[in-house]
Amino acid sequence: MSTLPTIGFLGLGHMGLPMAINLHKAGYTLKGFDIVPAAVQAVGEAGIETVATGAEAATGVDIVLTMFPSGQHVLDAYRGYLLQAASPNTLFLECSTIDVAQAKEAAALAVAAGHRSADAPVSGGVVGAEAGTLTFMLGAEAEDLEEITAVLEHMGKRIVHCGGHGLGQAAKICNNMLLGISMIGAAEAFVLGERLGLEHQALYDVISTASGQCWSVTTNCPVPGPVPTSPANRDYQPGFAAALMAKDLGLASSALKHTQTDAQLGALASALYRKFSDEGHAGTDFSGIINAVRDGSL
Ligand code: NAD
Repeated sequence: MSTLPTIGFLGLGHMGLPMAINLHKAGYTLKGFDIVPAAVQAVGEAGIETVATGAEAATGVDIVLTMFPSGQHVLDAYRGYLLQAASPNTLFLECSTIDVAQAKEAAALAVAAGHRSADAPVSGGVVGAEAGTLTFMLGAEAEDLEEITAVLEHMGKRIVHCGGHGLGQAAKICNNMLLGISMIGAAEAFVLGERLGLEHQALYDVISTASGQCWSVTTNCPVPGPVPTSPANRDYQPGFAAALMAKDLGLASSALKHTQTDAQLGALASALYRKFSDEGHAGTDFSGIINAVRDGSL
């Protein structure tokens, strides 16, 4: 029987904690670390070994998994101590949502230091992290796929290999750029419908079976009623917070600039979600943008 790889798990926040717990339940030996003591305590209470520094989490393990807020956190930790502390040929599994250019830089740093690297951002939110049903978008070398998949399948139900380093992040931001645009479109359609005298249910019955059909309507419908599980039915409690949508659209905007892509709707969606989030709605589900469309405050 082959032994499971040991994993240094850094970043035990909203997503990292339930992901670490799922690996622990699957029998993996983890070394957990977060810079926030309460996060370390929570992972300790789940029965997972904790360590006092990030460097210790990377020492003597087979895989270093990071789940950080931003690319700068990743690059600082890689450069500062993780790459030096890890044994040669360690697999660095970077699961945060970060800039494509930073993901490529992180991978290049890891490879230059004698390690292996993959970007594996996720979708599915905290609910998916808890249930172990995340989707992973993987940017990795083909020869590492089997080893990576064996670990990720305990945290997710779908793993898509998108190509080499950085292409997992690329797929994530392309998807979320479309999601941001489609949610604003769904919100505008429902507000226009209201003003033309349409009932929400009637418009939903048409869109959900017609050519305007999309996830923003059929799963995360921005008006209460037609989809009972959508955040609109619980006063727009996330769900997927507007602040996170604004962050992901900011990453998409940076990639648009970098690639000189004239994507006007993506750029506009980024500006609108940044404004909505900054003006007191950071913690609102991103479908709550319909209220700003309705009152003309966007
Ligand atoms: P979070 O802020 O709750 O957790 C991040 C954790 O990283 C924090 O506990 C922080 O203290 C820790 N951290 C930062 N620097 C560290 C370091 N050097 N060493 C150890 N720990 C460090 O964020 P989250 O909601 O868990 O999201 C994590 C990542 O996943 C983000 O990149 C986010 O964009 C992405 N994501 C989040 C969701 C979601 O619904 N929350 C969904 C998909 C993707």
